[in-house]
Amino acid sequence: MPVTPDDLRRHIEVLASDGFEGRQPGTRGESKTLAYIAGQLQRLGLQPAAGRGSWYQPVALVESRPFSQRATWSVGGRRTELRRRDVVLVGRSPIERVEDAPVVFVGHGARITGRNIDQLRGASLEGAAVLMLRQAPDGFPDLSERIRAVVAAGASAIILIHDDDVAWATVRAGLSNRRTRLQMEEVAPVQAEVPFGAADRLVAQAGADLDELVRSAGSATFRAIPLDARASFDVSTELRSYTSNNVVGRISGSGKSGESVLYLGHWDHLGICRPEGFDRICNGAVDNASGIAMLLEVAARLASGERPQRDILVMATTAEEMGLLGARHYAANPTVPLKSIVAALNVDTVAIHGKGEPVAVIGRGIAPLDRLIAATAAELGRKMDEDTEADAFVTRQDGWAFARAGVPAVMVGGSFSDMQQLGAFLAGPYHKPDDDLRQELILDGAAEDAALLIALGVKLADPRLYRPQPR
Ligand SMILES: [Zn+2]
Repeated sequence: MPVTPDDLRRHIEVLASDGFEGRQPGTRGESKTLAYIAGQLQRLGLQPAAGRGSWYQPVALVESRPFSQRATWSVGGRRTELRRRDVVLVGRSPIERVEDAPVVFVGHGARITGRNIDQLRGASLEGAAVLMLRQAPDGFPDLSERIRAVVAAGASAIILIHDDDVAWATVRAGLSNRRTRLQMEEVAPVQAEVPFGAADRLVAQAGADLDELVRSAGSATFRAIPLDARASFDVSTELRSYTSNNVVGRISGSGKSGESVLYLGHWDHLGICRPEGFDRICNGAVDNASGIAMLLEVAARLASGERPQRDILVMATTAEEMGLLGARHYAANPTVPLKSIVAALNVDTVAIHGKGEPVAVIGRGIAPLDRLIAATAAELGRKMDEDTEADAFVTRQDGWAFARAGVPAVMVGGSFSDMQQLGAFLAGPYHKPDDDLRQELILDGAAEDAALLIALGVKLADPRLYRPQPR
């Protein structure tokens, strides 16, 4: 039986109800959400697949909020305190002090073995305050990886330079608030973030030119450059550690290859997001109760259909809204080898489009998968969205955590096809209390996408119909 808009609506009405309090990780809303999703998967006959016979993969998180802070820059004994508006500091422990650390400019802090790029080589970073460009060119490791390399080299502090001074006020406000990271993530004792203009002035005091340094960092042979400056930090940070969970279930295939197809979507949203006296709950009906509804209905059809050869994994991830944290945690601690996942299909924000929308693919460029998606869409009478506008979202969805780790990962469907429609949602109820059950949920398109996702799963789980590219 095909998935209907009402099938989807039933789940959304539960998950986006006020009782679920906006599904924030670490709250009562999480407990209710986990129980609902695992309960549904169990009812459908899936097996718990998070390891140790459990549905839940714990994800250890650390929330931090800057409390009091001081940063001083000194050149030749002349000390300048950084202005509050020019820096945001966060410490690894509640109290961190770094005294007169030598400053080293490391460019993007990138080490790429295959391309012979090693911006840290030759530098003595033990105890140093590392000055580093936050943004990096395409193809460079992402920020957390670059930070890890610098931390491994022994840096006491990392000063990240933002390249956009215009946006700085907004960025600074965001950074000064609570933020959350994975506990397993490596961080330096002190992390400072500064706008380009402020970094430029500090570097000039040390007799160097930041524009020139940035230019030099663009060359393949760039090596870290010690500056004639020292930095000191005095930081206190409010820290809170807690555990959230990914939910993982499995439809066991009949084959012996140990391979699997992974469906994923994030269960979390923003929780209670406004002060008292307002509509306080960010319910996340579209983002992403709709995606979880889709996962559950697709899983229902696949579980009751012909037994697949490959395993089918269904995962609801946590903390996507905090930076794809649940998906990144799973990719670093997978319950099956990542190499055995032949394809990952992420589902996010699917309740905004009507029937007949062309099929957009985020993460195109993996030939066997592209071909299979196009053929399956055609069989169902769907047109493909040929432009590449949806690609702008590739790093902003959970599939990215898998793509980065080499898993063929895509997001497929009609909701990212019409940019005007998507733009209206993003400029409207998105991440506000308005993304709730009072808005009109458009589910015809989602029901059509469900048929596509089911057909894709059937083929992806069949080694005769789909072989992943060797990797
Ligand atoms: Zn979101």
